[in-house]
Order: sequence, then C-alpha cells, then structure tokens
Amino acid sequence: MEEDDYLKIRSRTDCPCGTGKIYHECCRPLHIGKAHAQTAEELMRSRYSAYFFRLVDYIYSTTHPDVRGPETIVDLDNTVNDTMWRNLQIVNSSKGTAEDKKGKVEFIAQYHHDGKFQEIHEKSRFRKHKGKWKYLDARG
Ligand SMILES: [Zn+2]
Repeated sequence: MEEDDYLKIRSRTDCPCGTGKIYHECCRPLHIGKAHAQTAEELMRSRYSAYFFRLVDYIYSTTHPDVRGPETIVDLDNTVNDTMWRNLQIVNSSKGTAEDKKGKVEFIAQYHHDGKFQEIHEKSRFRKHKGKWKYLDARG
C-alpha cells in the first residue's frame, strides 16, 4: 500500500493521536480551524496527528510566534515526509488547562525514520498567545 493511501484511510478511522475517537471527531476540527485546542494536551495531540498527516501549515500556525520564522516552514517541508509516526503516549501534563496561560506535556512518540524504529521522549512547553495554545519548546 502506498503511504498516501495509508494516510487517506487513517483520516477516516481512529485518530492517530490515540484518544480512541475517530479523526473527524478528534483532531480534524482543529486542523481545519473549526475548533481550537482547549488544553495544552489537546494541542499536543493535534500537533502529533498533524505531523502524522504532514499538515505543515497547522504545525507552523500552532508554534509560538516567538520561536517560529520563515525557516520553520522550510525545515518542516524538508523533514515531514521522512518520518512515519507510529504511536503517541502522553506521560504527564502539568497546568495547561483552559484557565492556564502556560502548560507542560511530557510524551513519548514512536516513529520510523531511515528504516529504523525510533522514539522521542520530550517535555514540551506550551504557552498561550492571544488566547490560543501554542507550542513553545522542548525541555528534556
Ligand atoms: Zn486526535
């Protein structure tokens, strides 16, 4: 099966972010701008599934303006197709509720790259910008 077909099929079934909901009722409303993440964890999940579906514009627009620039899009365009995301596990969240302005989400994500199975374990920091959650950076 072609990778593109696989992505098409996945868009009609369970959301890659692992909530158990179907994509159309989970991250898709966020990806098409019909809804906004209420919590940092929701944004984290939607960014993971945006990486999965290679939605560079969404990844860019949910990156905090302080840490993104024209090179961000170029970097994403150059790398997004090289990685096949396989699994997301949220380890821990702190703050990041609808009432907070900052939040942290610790996660483990598994992927294939260069024919190898790999894993990242990251603590991401999120911050609100104009009332909407954005990804700031990674610590650890
Ligand atoms: Zn989702």
